[in-house]
Amino acid sequence: MSERSSATDAIVLRGRALGEADRVFTLLTRARGKVDAVAKGVRRPRSAMGGRLEPLAEVRVALHKGRSLDVITEVRTITSHWTALARPDALATASLFAETVDLFCEPELPLPEIYALLVGAVAAVAASDAPATLVPRFQLRLLHALGLAPADDACVRCGEDFNRHGAWFDLDAGGLGCERCYGARGDAHALDADDVENFRALGAERGAGAALFATQQVARAVDDLVTWHLGRRPKARALVYELQAP
Ligand SMILES: [Zn+2]
Repeated sequence: MSERSSATDAIVLRGRALGEADRVFTLLTRARGKVDAVAKGVRRPRSAMGGRLEPLAEVRVALHKGRSLDVITEVRTITSHWTALARPDALATASLFAETVDLFCEPELPLPEIYALLVGAVAAVAASDAPATLVPRFQLRLLHALGLAPADDACVRCGEDFNRHGAWFDLDAGGLGCERCYGARGDAHALDADDVENFRALGAERGAGAALFATQQVARAVDDLVTWHLGRRPKARALVYELQAP
C-alpha cells in the first residue's frame, strides 16, 4: 500500500449522509483512534460497502487519505451483531455506548483499551436479555480507561480511607469523600459500605472480584459522573431508561 493508504480494524460509531450518494462514517479504529471517513456511493441501492458499514459492526477497512477526509476504499465484516441488536433495548444500549465513546474520544488518538472495551461491550449487549443493566459497568470501565475514574479507596479531600462508613459522592470534587469531611453536612450517605464495595468491583478488570452489575446508588453515581465529565447527557441515554422502565 502507498503511504496514503492504510488498513485497520474499526467499529462503526455512526454515519451521516453527505451529498447525494455518500455517507461520512465516524469510526473508532484500532490503529488511529477516532477517524471520520467517507464512503462514496454507499447510499445507492445495491452498494455492497454500505451494507457492511452498519452501526456497531466491527469491520476491517482500507482507508485512503483524501484532501480533507479519509476515503473508505474497502470494507470487510469482522463481526456483525445486527440481528441480535435489532431489539429496541439492545440497540438503544449499544447506541449509548457508541455515543459515549464518540463524545469522550478525540480524533486521531489511538485508544486500544477503549477499542477492546467497546468490542466486548457490544457483544455483551447482543447476548443480554437485560442490556440496560450493562450500562454502569461500561461507563465506569470507560472512565478508568480514560483516567477519569475517581479513587475508590480514599477520600477525595483528605485521602483517608472511607471503607467502613460508606462514602459521600462529591461531583464538584470529582470523587468520593469520607465521613469526617462530609458526614457533618447531615445529608444521607450517598453510598453505604456495600455500595462502596460494589463501586470498587464494578470498576475492576474482568476476573477475580469484578462485578458486572451496579447497585442503584452506584448506577446513579456513575451516570452522574459521566454526565459531569461530558457536560451533558448522551442523547441515547433517555431512550435506554425509557425502555427499561417497567
Ligand atoms: Zn476525608
